Amino acid sequence: MKILRVAIPSPLRKLFDYLPPIDCKTDTLERGLRVRITFGRREVIGLILEITDKTDVPLSKLKSALEVLDQQPLQPNYILDLAIWAADYYQYPIGEAALQSLPTYLRKGGLNEPSHTFIWKAVPPFTVDDISQRANQQRDLFKLITEHPHGISKEAIKAEGGATQLLSTLLEKGLIKQERLVHALPAAEHLLKEAPLTLNTEQSTALKKITSQQGFNAFLLDGITGSGKTEVYLQAIHHYLKQNLQALILVPEIGLTPQTVHRFQSRFRVPVAVLHSGLTDKQRFDAWAQATQGEAPIVIGTRSAIFTPLKSPGIIILDEEHDSSFKQQEGFRYSARDLAVVRAHAEQVPIILGSATPSLESLQNCVLSRYQHLTLKTRAGNANAPGFQLLDIKKQPLNNGLSAALLEAIRTHLNQGTQVLVFINRRGFSPSLICHDCGWLAECRRCDARMTLHHSPAHLHCHHCDSQRPVPKQCDHCGSQDLKPVGAGTERTEQTLAGLFPDTPVIRVDRDSTSRKGAMSKIMDKVNTGAPCILVGTQMLAKGHHFPKVTLVAILDADAGLFSTDFRGMERTAQMIIQVAGRAGRADHPGSVILQTHHGDHPLLTLLTTQGYEKFALEELTQRQKFQLPPFCYLAIIRAEATQSGRAEAFLQSMREQQTNFPESIQWSGPFPSPMEKKAGVFRAQLLLSATNRPLLQNTLSRLCLLLTDHPLANRVRWSIDVDPYDL
Ligand code: ADP
Ligand code: ZN
Ligand code: ZN
Repeated sequence: MKILRVAIPSPLRKLFDYLPPIDCKTDTLERGLRVRITFGRREVIGLILEITDKTDVPLSKLKSALEVLDQQPLQPNYILDLAIWAADYYQYPIGEAALQSLPTYLRKGGLNEPSHTFIWKAVPPFTVDDISQRANQQRDLFKLITEHPHGISKEAIKAEGGATQLLSTLLEKGLIKQERLVHALPAAEHLLKEAPLTLNTEQSTALKKITSQQGFNAFLLDGITGSGKTEVYLQAIHHYLKQNLQALILVPEIGLTPQTVHRFQSRFRVPVAVLHSGLTDKQRFDAWAQATQGEAPIVIGTRSAIFTPLKSPGIIILDEEHDSSFKQQEGFRYSARDLAVVRAHAEQVPIILGSATPSLESLQNCVLSRYQHLTLKTRAGNANAPGFQLLDIKKQPLNNGLSAALLEAIRTHLNQGTQVLVFINRRGFSPSLICHDCGWLAECRRCDARMTLHHSPAHLHCHHCDSQRPVPKQCDHCGSQDLKPVGAGTERTEQTLAGLFPDTPVIRVDRDSTSRKGAMSKIMDKVNTGAPCILVGTQMLAKGHHFPKVTLVAILDADAGLFSTDFRGMERTAQMIIQVAGRAGRADHPGSVILQTHHGDHPLLTLLTTQGYEKFALEELTQRQKFQLPPFCYLAIIRAEATQSGRAEAFLQSMREQQTNFPESIQWSGPFPSPMEKKAGVFRAQLLLSATNRPLLQNTLSRLCLLLTDHPLANRVRWSIDVDPYDL
């Protein structure tokens, strides 16, 4: 007798046993097929993970699955194994994890049949003379089709002015036939659409190291912005495409940077499958299928594309490996970067992690020789790297956050006919609104946070829970009408600069100014004319875009993350500064970067701006080692939230007290209220675990999971476990 062990989307951390459907040929059953089953009162789609002949469920209680949905497994085993490994490592329910490795379309029960383009071809030996002289339109249509011996799509016929409504007539007469378009891949010597660049010495050393080794190897491609990392990716990809192998490329965001995808498309004459969140479920599934069936030799996607199978895996590339968006921050809290390395190892292919500002974890992996460290220290194409200046603004008068010295520098650059980029990581007009008479602050009613004042359109906005309300006319507390904005966000900086430089366009780039479709490309078109302008924006400016005419980058508040309670605060600040700075100075325009700070003698800031990111990172690693912080220990956070104040903390406290015999080498800290205790109307608390022994921590977490699940308060508290958390 066969028993199916099925992954089901359920918070329960186990597989469920079912009998095969009643009239099913059991020898066709395999791991990786979907089944429709009744689970409780629902009908759900599950995934067969194991087939056995044993079960702990009494036979009389075993239900039969209703239907098997697939003839073939949907994914290769290594993808399922990756999802199961991740479920275990990240303490996430196995059923949810296994199903999340599939495209939503399949998870919802869609047929595993991707859409295809159909093309029309003439059927030999017919010629146009087989059509009546009087049927002119039919003759024209047939002629058009015979001109395309490899076939022509309906859309292309329409574009050529052909009478597509007559296709069925020609089909009925047997003169033409319809076929599925299969992209025949070009022969190895015709893969390139454009010639590769001649690599400089550092680039070609890196490329040789990557392509000359066999099997799994992890490389950290540590190259300053503009050093030509992408060119190295492209040439490495070419190496594998020539062997009929595929490349999987993971990037932080696709919507923001369509030009990244464009660079891959314009280099190679092969289909590129793109997977991102802007697609419909069906479109995403189609792209997934192209990757899975090997029709797309190049696959580019964001975080969740890590579960997209390749038919013939050749190489994995993860660009901007330091970027926090590779870590999923809710639900299945996996790190796509770390999973990518696990996956590359399972597939025995090389992986490149690229960044101008590598994470300390990856740098430490180089120190330990787990990764090979490849560095690109010079800008490709002879451009100069920018020079830094720490501008101490202690005691200096500021005009809405702008010092006189900075304004002078902006003026100088604009007078040279170049562009200026002003970075401020806060959108809106001002981060708070205060009553000048009594000190009342406009706060969010659902969070422990102030509301940001926005001018266009005018409203108060909580950036933590997204709630909005009109700008109050008077103080809630004393009724005074003297309400004043405090501090500056992008809108206020834009307004101030526009007033000071009335002849120069000031262009704001933040989530608000780019939310409309096509807005970002309009902005880029304006900037690309090269005319002097001032760009004011948030970290959106630091991601991927190149501004070749920008010669001055001004960072208004370099101090924001310096004294953060999160141990990664300094690392993040440094990455942001270097990433923003990387936008300045290309080709013939050497750039400069001015950082306004109240801590002009801050040792790490000084080290970063005089010696560069790598020196900074090594120093920071020494500190981490001294204080036994990651990557020198492993962390996990147990978070809990409840609608009643104090309940989440009590829940974690009682769980902690139930622990008597846990290993001493695990450090517990908390439970404490979370840094922002109340968020979106719920009260949150957390407990931090750290250990130097990873298996021990994993083991402890698994035991805690059981305790948490069975806890009497568990139905009134939502809890989650975050392994290797990114945000503390
Ligand atoms: P990164 O990805 O490291 O930021 P890119 O690959 O985007 O760098 O390269 C920056 C610029 O330098 C691009 O315009 C690219 O075309 C150019 N470039 C890269 N490699 C070379 C090279 N070997 N010779 C000339 N130009 C190059
Ligand atoms: Zn809020
Ligand atoms: Zn007041």
